[in-house]
Amino acid sequence: MNQEQLFERSKELVPGGVHSPVRSFKGLHTTPRFFEKAKGAKIWDVDNKDYIDFCMSFGPLILGHKNEDVQKALEGQLEKGWSYGACEPYSLKLAEFLTERLPHIEQIRFVNSGTEAVMTAVRLARGMTGRKKIIKFDGCYHGHLDSLLIKAGSGLAGTAEASSTWVPASFSMGTLILELGGLEGCRDIIKRYPNDVALIAVEPLPANNGLLPLSQEFLQGLRDLCDESGALLLFDEVISGFRMGFRGMAQKTGIKPDMVTYGKIIGGGLPVGAVASSSKVMENLAPLGGVYQAGTLSANPLAMVGGLETLKKLTPEAYQKLSTYTESIVAIFKEWFETFENGRFKNLQMIHEGSLFWIHPDFLPTKASEISADLGPQFKDLFEILLNKGIYLAPNAYEVGFVSLAHDESVQSELKERLFS
Ligand SMILES: *Cc1c(COP(=O)(O)O)cnc(C)c1O
Repeated sequence: MNQEQLFERSKELVPGGVHSPVRSFKGLHTTPRFFEKAKGAKIWDVDNKDYIDFCMSFGPLILGHKNEDVQKALEGQLEKGWSYGACEPYSLKLAEFLTERLPHIEQIRFVNSGTEAVMTAVRLARGMTGRKKIIKFDGCYHGHLDSLLIKAGSGLAGTAEASSTWVPASFSMGTLILELGGLEGCRDIIKRYPNDVALIAVEPLPANNGLLPLSQEFLQGLRDLCDESGALLLFDEVISGFRMGFRGMAQKTGIKPDMVTYGKIIGGGLPVGAVASSSKVMENLAPLGGVYQAGTLSANPLAMVGGLETLKKLTPEAYQKLSTYTESIVAIFKEWFETFENGRFKNLQMIHEGSLFWIHPDFLPTKASEISADLGPQFKDLFEILLNKGIYLAPNAYEVGFVSLAHDESVQSELKERLFS
């Protein structure tokens, strides 16, 4: 079967042919590529065409695809079994490794995805404070749990509507949504509901709806508001954790969140998420406390071993390399935007932070409301041209690009050749 046929067949068996909507190439000119192998910075489709990958599984593969040491560690674990549903030493090793290196956490619980981690954090915040309301920001993504699948409602700040059908109003009513960067709005809401806000959730580096870096003042303001009101501050570091330096944004900003959620890199490409905090907060979770949380496959040994081996390689030198690689890659793209077909993509701007980048036409937005809902048309052309040249971006204008340690100088030369040929 060719790739179009594979997609047709998939659509018969799977809703929309995909297991996660952003894989669907919706609004693009072509059907999804079906990939069957990968190595380093490259990924191969079933027709054996290779692409330089800037999606990297949407972030987990910071070492590149199929890193040899991670593979060895996984193979070693396979020999020993891959799920016990019981205590094992592998998650202990990972928990030790993390708590020794992350001064803002004392305890951690491993789950299977970022969504699960955030879901647990929300429940924990409500359980601890006895309060119902949570604050989130327009343009931050926290996974697909009902209470956070919310977009800004029209009119009054702080109202919310669900961004999925069939999220009951009773769920979205507990969530107050505000504009990123708008500390005043946050202050007003806390004033309006002085004893009701359990949690302020924020991506300290919003990277799920474009890349929208926040000011230190804003994040510090959230910290202060939490201290004044008794709400807990959640840094959702599912993307930024282990990416913006090992200790993520909590380290970069020097702001100590009450809770942190991790995902993506923490599992090195295997399904892991985690919620972490002080022992005082974490001890509210079952079996010690009344806040229930569980998982048949939680702290799966393969995922623990893959995650640990990945994290071990993230030295200061590794982050230095990632930044250097990203700067070169961004420079290459920018040069190509200027020159390709007499400046056809001349209006495209690029922002980068650490090893993340994002392409946006004409200017660089700072909040979600500045991002057009109609980025599709120009992105579609860009995506198609790059795909034909053997360069794979995440198939959606609102997703960021991910650079890995495998995107080294030789890959950068190849990128240049592919772009300018
Ligand atoms: C990816 C992501 C999630 C959801 O994680 P999944 O593993 O896809 O459930 C939550 N929060 C942030 C900030 C993310 O980037």
